[in-house]
Amino acid sequence: MLNKLKQRLDAILTSGELPQRRPALKSHNESNIPGLYIIGDLAGAPVIKLAMAQGFEVVEHIASLPEARSNDPAMFDLLIVGAGAAGLNAALAAKEKGLSVLVLEKAKFANTIEDFPEGKWVYAEPDATPPKGKLWLDGARKEDLIARWHQIVRQNGLEVRVEEGLKSLERERDGAFRVVSDKGEYRARRIVLATGQRGNPRKLRVKGEDRERVYHRLYAPRHYKGQALLVVGGGNSAVEAALVLAEQNRVRLSYRGSEFWRLFKDNERKLNAAVAEKRIELLLNSNVLEFGDRAARLEIDRGGHQESVEIPYDHAFVLIGAELPVTFLKSLGVKMENEWNGSPWRAAALVLTVLLGLWVFGGHAQLAGHSLRSIPTWLGGLTAAAGVAALLALGRRDNRYAWLGVSFLICYSVYGAKVGSGNEFWPFRDWGYKALSSFNRPWSFWYTVLYTLIMTVFGLHAMKRWGLDRKDKFQIWRYISLISFQWIFFFLIPEFLFQWAVRYQWVGARLASDPVFAQQAWRAYGIIYAWPLFFYTFFNNPSEIWVVWGVLLAFVIIPVFVLFHGKRYCSWICGCGGLAETFGDRWRHLAPKGRTSIKWEWMNLAVLVAATVATVMVLLKDSITFLRQPSAWSLDTYHLFADVWLVGILPVTLYPFLGGKVWCRYWCPLAKLMHLMSKAYAKLGISRFGIVANDKCIACSECSRNCQVGIDVMSYALKQQILDNATSSCIGCGICVSVCPMDTLSFGGGKQGLVQLRVKGLSPIMKPHL
Ligand SMILES: Cc1cc2nc3c(=O)[nH]c(=O)nc-3n(C[C@H](O)[C@H](O)[C@H](O)COP(=O)(O)OP(=O)(O)OC[C@H]3O[C@@H](n4cnc5c(N)ncnc54)[C@H](O)[C@@H]3O)c2cc1C
Ligand code: SF4
Ligand code: SF4
Repeated sequence: MLNKLKQRLDAILTSGELPQRRPALKSHNESNIPGLYIIGDLAGAPVIKLAMAQGFEVVEHIASLPEARSNDPAMFDLLIVGAGAAGLNAALAAKEKGLSVLVLEKAKFANTIEDFPEGKWVYAEPDATPPKGKLWLDGARKEDLIARWHQIVRQNGLEVRVEEGLKSLERERDGAFRVVSDKGEYRARRIVLATGQRGNPRKLRVKGEDRERVYHRLYAPRHYKGQALLVVGGGNSAVEAALVLAEQNRVRLSYRGSEFWRLFKDNERKLNAAVAEKRIELLLNSNVLEFGDRAARLEIDRGGHQESVEIPYDHAFVLIGAELPVTFLKSLGVKMENEWNGSPWRAAALVLTVLLGLWVFGGHAQLAGHSLRSIPTWLGGLTAAAGVAALLALGRRDNRYAWLGVSFLICYSVYGAKVGSGNEFWPFRDWGYKALSSFNRPWSFWYTVLYTLIMTVFGLHAMKRWGLDRKDKFQIWRYISLISFQWIFFFLIPEFLFQWAVRYQWVGARLASDPVFAQQAWRAYGIIYAWPLFFYTFFNNPSEIWVVWGVLLAFVIIPVFVLFHGKRYCSWICGCGGLAETFGDRWRHLAPKGRTSIKWEWMNLAVLVAATVATVMVLLKDSITFLRQPSAWSLDTYHLFADVWLVGILPVTLYPFLGGKVWCRYWCPLAKLMHLMSKAYAKLGISRFGIVANDKCIACSECSRNCQVGIDVMSYALKQQILDNATSSCIGCGICVSVCPMDTLSFGGGKQGLVQLRVKGLSPIMKPHL
């Protein structure tokens, strides 16, 4: 039972992972091991030019460090593992900077490219970005590219030891690395790991896969003539291989899915043509069970009925991608992203211990039963401190459940005390609010100050990351907007300006002297927060000015805004979305992804229904008396669940684990309302919001990885399909547009988007590589 619960929890917490996991990296691509850097394909650079850029940049950083160069002639300043695009460019840069450098290569020089099919044209994408560093790169045949690289390495006197793979690494007392290879031992001050992942083709793990006639890469397609060939896979590599092999052979393509959903448009078109002309036989919904000597046994799902068939083959190609060499990386001590270690139960027990300690600390033991009266309050404080220390110690030993516990304790305490003096959550009841209030200001004020400061500091950081560093004006304005809305509408106006407006009668003498208006500064939050996110505008004897404004905002302004901007309220205006986009930004890649995670989005529909029911009941309670009791109950319940747990405690607790948008995506009723409107506009063809893609996508998945609401942007880009709210819950943050190395994506929905797509349809450009 407990095990099942843990498995469920693990599945939710790791739902942010794309099929390809990455090592956990800090700034400048440094891994969890200080001095060990990871670059290139292994670090998510999808093409040669970007892998080269990472190599160049990491060495710029290393060379700028004060102790970059060693005086010890027996120690290299830098040892680079892997002589691919990233490693070679890094080594050339290091040489230029005067660092002593050695390159170890497990196989051949530029092995991945050497293994491309013979004569393959190597594309130098992204076109618009010039290559960085000394290694040459332009569109060329692979043989010519490698010849140029050999020449450059020779001219620069770079030492590359081929057929000498890295075996192990050890940290010595003086901080240097002891590097053990197949052939020797070295000492190095720093290590750059550029081993790529292509050397690790993914396997089906079925019987007979190690036969001589079963291959995991296609090297010489022209070599096969008049043969029966079986290609296994559903990605672009498998489809391209099937297409080229079908020119001179009988090809069957086996894919486990019912349709190809990640193909470049051009590959999809060519495949359809080849299938129609019977040059390729498609075996969809099929799984290889075994490779025999000359026939493979496949299981094919024919509408729920499984059929076992024998497929004859002379040669088979299993092209189902590559696997990150996780075992190798772990053997070196490298940590992977989003690794869940430790026991949730131990973390939960420690959280409970801390809360019990705080209960005693708050003086409740004295008030409780006789036997507890003798426990001194300081012992409670000590217990709480010990519990926190234990959680932190476990966390430092990679126990992520312990960090989840720490995160929960902070959010629960901050918000559990904020619910109001005397109403605080256990164990803060009757003392938490007071303890956190200071300088004649209540805790709720300091909470707003804290919120605004966190948003400002992390907002500036996010603005640098997405706006200033990339010279992206859209992102700069977006973060200016978020921070400004927070300061003006969610801090200065409700906490200061409203009171001054009343005191100095800026709102006119009549309103200023109306106690219903003047004494309810908190209603100023309703200037921007619309129903149903902030439905108190309509309750508890509001001044009519708030009611008029509330109706106008929720039912006129928001619908018009959504028509033109979709759900950009969430990523440009709202304070809840603002905290997610700023403080939560560093964890955006952990947003739950995949179909199941999208299904969970029904939850904010449930909250919207609950908010509507509560609103209707409260508004009708004066005319329909029997609603009085249920309306009070519904309001209290909604307040507790939605306004405290779902908006305050849980989402922020989960920021470091599921990204920042848990509230906005799963629970916010206003987001759902805007989504329904935007979806309707899109379906009616009048929405002005959407994202379109050109034909340059290289399937690097950076867009999907960074989408804070877990949309598989890449699958839209590959199909050049409009991404709008008819099919997704996009909030228009534009991060996918900014992060795309190929400038594939751009905003332009509605008619504009359709025109762009039609133009593209007329001139389909081939997307032939990868
Ligand atoms: C079929 C195919 C076609 C492609 N076409 C293009 C294209 O046209 N244009 C483009 O830009 N990109 C293309 N790519 C992607 C491109 O190959 C990669 O982006 C690029 O090679 C990544 O460079 P890298 O240096 O990070 O890794 P790699 O080039 O993979 O280099 C890693 C090196 O490390 C070595 N190594 C591994 N383990 C060890 C070890 N333990 N010790 C020592 N050395 C080790 C490997 O042997 C290898 O030589 C293609 C990829 C494939 C698979
Ligand atoms: S699809 Fe792009 S614009 Fe939309 S929410 Fe995701 S990252 Fe933001
Ligand atoms: S659209 Fe997405 S997957 Fe395609 S190149 Fe751009 S970031 Fe990569």
